Amino acid sequence: MSTYELPKAYDFKETEKRVYEMWESGGYFQPHNDPNKPHFDPNVKPFVIAIPPPNVTGELHTGHAMFVSIEDLMIRYHRMKGYSALWVPGTDHAGIATQLMVERQLLKEGTSREEVGREEFLRRTWEWKHKYGGMITSQIRRLGASCDWTRERFTMDEGLSVAVREAFVRLYEAGKIYRGPRLINWSPGLKTAVSDLEVEYSEEPGTLYFFKYMLKPLNGGEPTEYIPVATTRPETILGDTAVAVHPEDERYQKYIGRSVVVPMLGREIPVIGDDYVAREFGTGALKITPGHDPNDYEIGQRHNLAVLSMLDKSAKVTEIGGKYAAMDRFDCRKALWADMKEAGLVIKEEPYTLNVPRSQRGGEIIEPMISTQWFVRIQEQAEKGLMAVRNGDIRIVPDHFEKVYFNWLDNITDWCISRQLWWGHRIPVWYCADCGKETCTRQDPTACAHCGSASIEQDPDVLDTWFSSGLWPFSTLGWPEQTPDLKYFYPTSYMETGYDILFFWVARMIMSGLEFTEQAPFHTVYLHGLIRDEHGQKMSKTKGNVIDPLTVMDELGTDALRFTMLVGSTPGKDSNLSIKKVEANRNFANKLWNAGRFVINAVTSVEPSNEKLEWTLADSWIWARLQTLTRDVERLFQTFQYGQAGQMIYDFLWGDLADWYLEIAKIQLAEGGARAYWTANTLLRVFDTALRLLHPFTPFVTEEMWQHLKKAAAGSALASQTAQWPNVLMTAQWPEANAPEGWEDAKIASFEQVQEIIRAIRNLRSEKNVKPSLKLAAVMVDTSGLVAAESKLIAQLAGLDAAKLRVENTLPKAPEGHVAIIAGQVEIHLPLADIVDPEEEKARLTKELAEVESHIRRLEGLLASDFGKKAPPAVVAKEHEKLANYKETAAKLKAQL
Ligand SMILES: [Zn+2]
Repeated sequence: MSTYELPKAYDFKETEKRVYEMWESGGYFQPHNDPNKPHFDPNVKPFVIAIPPPNVTGELHTGHAMFVSIEDLMIRYHRMKGYSALWVPGTDHAGIATQLMVERQLLKEGTSREEVGREEFLRRTWEWKHKYGGMITSQIRRLGASCDWTRERFTMDEGLSVAVREAFVRLYEAGKIYRGPRLINWSPGLKTAVSDLEVEYSEEPGTLYFFKYMLKPLNGGEPTEYIPVATTRPETILGDTAVAVHPEDERYQKYIGRSVVVPMLGREIPVIGDDYVAREFGTGALKITPGHDPNDYEIGQRHNLAVLSMLDKSAKVTEIGGKYAAMDRFDCRKALWADMKEAGLVIKEEPYTLNVPRSQRGGEIIEPMISTQWFVRIQEQAEKGLMAVRNGDIRIVPDHFEKVYFNWLDNITDWCISRQLWWGHRIPVWYCADCGKETCTRQDPTACAHCGSASIEQDPDVLDTWFSSGLWPFSTLGWPEQTPDLKYFYPTSYMETGYDILFFWVARMIMSGLEFTEQAPFHTVYLHGLIRDEHGQKMSKTKGNVIDPLTVMDELGTDALRFTMLVGSTPGKDSNLSIKKVEANRNFANKLWNAGRFVINAVTSVEPSNEKLEWTLADSWIWARLQTLTRDVERLFQTFQYGQAGQMIYDFLWGDLADWYLEIAKIQLAEGGARAYWTANTLLRVFDTALRLLHPFTPFVTEEMWQHLKKAAAGSALASQTAQWPNVLMTAQWPEANAPEGWEDAKIASFEQVQEIIRAIRNLRSEKNVKPSLKLAAVMVDTSGLVAAESKLIAQLAGLDAAKLRVENTLPKAPEGHVAIIAGQVEIHLPLADIVDPEEEKARLTKELAEVESHIRRLEGLLASDFGKKAPPAVVAKEHEKLANYKETAAKLKAQL
């Protein structure tokens, strides 16, 4: 006998912080087999995940909570399986987002980026990063993330900057990078190129403008013929370099090869035939503006058309626009259209729904523009990226995303990597004022590499953020240096992220990994879905349905949030998050705590015993269930079905263990002696195993409970059981099923028959309102011997009088005054006629009947009213159905009375 004081209730607020600090300061987040430390064994298998680096400006949202929960589960599971598990954390410098943050700050101080200058601006941005950059990582810690923080990286730290420089110079030297004019997404407000990812399309009401493209007369004179054309952006007329029609379009094919006149400017441009033109759309003729539309750009390339930029970097009209030069793009639209109206060139205007490209940052309309930028030739890299998935070096889960991946890489265009920002990795190219040539080197040059001139100037642009994050899996491990970490931990194992980021990031990492390390950077890509609200709606600030994970963790605990997200997740599918479910899972943590209290009580109150005893059926059964659970969880983890695995562990702990085995253990413990000792033994081992299985889902409550269990057991008669336990649950060995498969089946079947009998009797008792204190007699018909063997257990759990429980092989005639029920193979007769007080029963039935009849009256009234005639038929039918059900119940009650 020993005593152990377990806190009455689980206090997640007090526990989470303390347990996390205990793990971190104990060094448990670091891989147990470390190539930089003594006793390193290269034969131990590593398991590595590089965290998707959140923006350094980020604030924790449900998307972060989801990926942290899943990755932490993956890492904890592999760590417990004995892998040298490493989860590399870090943040992304997030070019535009961070620059905007600091620009806003400057604006408040009444100055600007341009005014303070580049150097001061960068100093201010670093200052901002040092002050606030740790916010998102501290929020990730709150989720229980077991990252190795001693290996934390930042995309602009010294090492990663070296990696970016090396990657750029290698591509440059191999001729895989070039600079040239191309059509890109231009943000006039931010004055930078932006990636496709930073452009959001929104459906907005707009106008379709129809006008006349006048044909130049063949023999001089006034123009009379015209081709009708429609556009949503009339101002771009000023940059038109052709009108295209379908070559087989009978209306217009005769005009191919002739010229039309650009409205108000008088420029002559050709009519061309191209089967890209959709004859049935609009007027069937297209104006072609290669300088401001990606599709037009493609057509222009095919027909060698001139590319005119009619807008400048601030989206003001250039000198190309003649009298409209220097106007804002939207003012020009109005002025030009008014002039065209006056000139009789306008046909009509129609309302039209536009798909408007807007900047994810500033919200302004993105303008496709020709601009001189740096590009990576992507074709060769893309082909290697395709091969890596096709030949199985990389597996994408769920596999239907492979098609999406193939499709994207098949249609990929050269990657624009320059951004007109100050915050980021500056392009390592210097231009010579004397010879005009470029110098691109690993170290900053002081003179031109070609003529030796000292008047060189660095390219002002920085690299796209995705250029550095594409190197993430190996740059974080030390590349380009062949560090011990890189040699041992690379390639990494899983890349886990949201499916929406498959192309922008995952595909770039695969291409970069193959390019620079000649290896796939990971062997498995696991994609999770988006988190929606409880009704399946996308969360948005305007809808007001955003769930803040920090608030949820404050109110209901981290484990409850994690468990809800993990159990609701299916690979690649969106999932709904409901606070009600999180609340239910907070109760699960409490249930677990109470079960732990029971187990600790049992463990600390038994006396040692050397007597060997046979297991009871319940002992065998709970072990058998634990064996099948362990096997199922392993199978589900191997196939990434984490949600289902979590649900099974939940059902085992709540149902099998807490609702059944603990009840039975009470009875067995009461027997005292060896039976009590062995029951406590079973409780300890089963609970320990279950906590291990649950740990990757809910690390805090399981660790805290397990620590109590360990301490309590250490001072008990069962101390030897815990001799092999490590210091913390998070490094305890992952359970393995050790009984031969199939052993469990007979045990489980027998116990389930017992459960069925108990449930059937309990149901009948509650239906007949039998007082719980009343012990019933019973006659059961069973030829298997099971009821006779388990009669004591059945009697206790079903509220029967064990002395009056009779088991028969056959029963020729049902006993009088008894009610018969069937439970599986067993027939049960209960003498309910004797035990129910007829007066009480009559009163109960009368009261119930009165209630039902009042419902009937209400529904009859409702259906006779206007509602019955005017409400939708489906709604009325539903009320009729309710009424019929009440009438049926009333009839039954009357019959019983
Ligand atoms: Zn030079």
